[in-house]
Amino acid sequence: MTQTFFGQINPPARLLMGPGPVNAHPRVLRAMAADMLGQFDPEMTEYMNQTMDLYRQVFMTNNRWTFLVDGTARAGIEASLVSLVEPGMKLLIVRAGRFGLLLSEIAQRIGAEIVTLDIPWGEVATLEQIEDAITTHRPHVLACIHGDTSTTIAQPLDGVGALCRKYDVLSYVDTTATLGGMEVATDRWGVDVVSGGLQKCMGGPPGSAPITISDRAAEHIFARRHVEAGIRGSDTRDGTRARIPSNYFDLAMVMDYWSEKRLNHHTEATTMLYGAREAARVVLEEGLQARFARHARASRAVCAGLRAIGLELFGGDEYRMTNVTGVYIPKGVDGEKVRARMREDFEIEIGSAFGPLQGRIWRIGAMGYNAEKHKVLLTIGALETVLRHEGHGFAAGRGVDAALAAYDA
Ligand SMILES: *Cc1c(COP(=O)(O)O)cnc(C)c1O
Repeated sequence: MTQTFFGQINPPARLLMGPGPVNAHPRVLRAMAADMLGQFDPEMTEYMNQTMDLYRQVFMTNNRWTFLVDGTARAGIEASLVSLVEPGMKLLIVRAGRFGLLLSEIAQRIGAEIVTLDIPWGEVATLEQIEDAITTHRPHVLACIHGDTSTTIAQPLDGVGALCRKYDVLSYVDTTATLGGMEVATDRWGVDVVSGGLQKCMGGPPGSAPITISDRAAEHIFARRHVEAGIRGSDTRDGTRARIPSNYFDLAMVMDYWSEKRLNHHTEATTMLYGAREAARVVLEEGLQARFARHARASRAVCAGLRAIGLELFGGDEYRMTNVTGVYIPKGVDGEKVRARMREDFEIEIGSAFGPLQGRIWRIGAMGYNAEKHKVLLTIGALETVLRHEGHGFAAGRGVDAALAAYDA
């Protein structure tokens, strides 16, 4: 066999202005170059505790149980659902985009009884609709997405936790796309389990899923701990409490690992912990409110620039995510060709779309380290030039002028 070594990793310096992943903050990458520690080394344990503290602030919560699930954001979603939802339990899923469908797919594998509140892509559920769905179906758990990047629309969550508590429903929210960029007010929302990721507004790489868990949800999860399937529990609705059918994603075991007990589970992904810790430090140093405002400014500039080029935005302004914007591909323009020219001529990536929106919209992100004025202006400028070359003719410079004006306003 011939030996092949390939070259060292040397990726092009792309500007990632899609729905994620986006460029990581250099401080996060530097933190990840630090050497390993043993997982029960006191320094490592201290870093783990600090990380819990930092993410309480990021999730705007006092939840004791706030830590990292090792894996991409989907690991946080799957760990939450598999630990909360028992086979046969009724789960209400609010579905308004692709990630809502992912919740169903995971819940099906768990063997949950799934009921859904289906909302057209681009719209949000009202509190009345959610309450109706709860009183109609009487679920044990409600799951929804905060910002669904597939539609670029954010579901308002104020009041949802209170509703769930009123009807004794546990709640789960996926905030992967919004954490660190839009307000994720865990305690004010009153929701039980919230998970996220690093590769969007947190400005880190994919591979770690921060999570926070209320005491009442933790109690429910711990009650499934060390219990053999089929053995009678005391307070379950059907008289039995099923063991969590995953070892890696068993949050009862993962919480024991992050607690003072330090019960061995997996080896904490040391490098990802360094990265997640530094990402949170960068976020909190900037300040949550300042960071949300920076994303909102970038969003206004992106929207103004796109409209000035003559493009139509997807979805209404009221519930638009402030870190990713959906925009219709104009008639007669080949969306993939435009993306290729953006990438090849300008080293800029913008996003395509899924499902019913595939081939119909682009998704332009300005997240975390990339929600910066110059990066927004470069992206709008590049897009309007490429579109002009593709026959969507406008006077050059209109989009950039409008984006700049939005920044200066
Ligand atoms: C991007 C995104 C994810 C991604 O999950 P990964 O496992 O990190 O790919 C999950 N949920 C939402 C809402 C997202 O926008």
